[in-house]
Amino acid sequence: MPEGPEVESVRRELLQLINLVVEKIAFTPLSQKYTKYQGKEEKFSQFTNQKLRNVHRFNKFLVWEFDKAPVILNHLGMTGSWTMISSLEELSSKTTHPKVIVEMRTPPHAIFDDSRNFGQFRLFSSIEAVKQYPPIKKVGIDGLAEDFPLGEFIDRLAEQRFQNRQIGDLLMDPRLVAGIGNIYKAEILFEAKIHPERTVSTLSTEETTLLGKSISKILLKAFYDKGSSFDARYKLPSGESGGAQRWHKVYQRIDQPCDKCGSLIEKIIQKNRSTYYCPTCQD
Ligand SMILES: [Zn+2]
Repeated sequence: MPEGPEVESVRRELLQLINLVVEKIAFTPLSQKYTKYQGKEEKFSQFTNQKLRNVHRFNKFLVWEFDKAPVILNHLGMTGSWTMISSLEELSSKTTHPKVIVEMRTPPHAIFDDSRNFGQFRLFSSIEAVKQYPPIKKVGIDGLAEDFPLGEFIDRLAEQRFQNRQIGDLLMDPRLVAGIGNIYKAEILFEAKIHPERTVSTLSTEETTLLGKSISKILLKAFYDKGSSFDARYKLPSGESGGAQRWHKVYQRIDQPCDKCGSLIEKIIQKNRSTYYCPTCQD
C-alpha cells in the first residue's frame, strides 16, 4: 500500500494539471461493475469547464480542488495509481484497470487505475468538510513536514493513551504521525536502533528524540527518491518507478545480513503486520 512518501510523490506529479480546464470526468465501462462508481458520471459533470486549482494531501488522501466546490477526495487504497497520458488513445496501452478518466481540454489527461478496488474517488462539499472527515480529523503530525515538529512529537508520544503500545505497532497509527506504513515503520526503527516490540513507556528521552529525527529523515529520503517500487504495483503518474527500495535496510530482507553488523535480519508479526528488524542493532 502506498505510504506518505509515495502519495506525496504522486501528488507532486499531478500538480502538472493545475490551471488546466476540465473537459470531462468520465467513468470507464469497467468501473460500472462496481457500485461505488455507478451513476457517478452525472454528479461529476459539474466539473466540466472548471480549472483544477490544487491537489492537496492530508495523510494518505489526495484532495482535488477546482474553481468551485465541491472537492474530490481520492485515496489510492492498495493498488490505486494515476497515469498521465497525452491522448485518450493511450488509455488501453498505458493502463490495466482504468476506472476514472480526468480529461482536460488540453493534455495531459489523468487516469485513475485500480486493480483491487480499495481506492476512493468521491465528492465532499468543501475542503473544510474533508478536514472533518474522521480519518483526516484525527490525524497527528504530518511525518513529511519539511520542518518536522520534534517537540510536538515528543509531547504526543508522552500521552497516556500511547504508553502501553508497542512502538512498531504505534508508528503506523496516524493519530501519532501520519504517513508511515509497513515499509517505513521498519526502516525508521532500524535507523533509530529501537526494537519494534519495545513498549512506548520504556523509551528513554534520547531514544524518543532519535526516533522523531529518524521518522523525518526516512520519510523525506523516501520522498526524494519518489517512493518505493519494490513490488511493481506502485508507479508515478509519469510511468516512472520510485527508487527508495534500493536503500531499504531491513524491510523484506529476512535472513539477509545486516549492512551494519552482519546479523541476519529477522521478521516478527505485530497486530497481523510483518515487522523486519536487526536483532543486534535494535534493542
Ligand atoms: Zn545489525
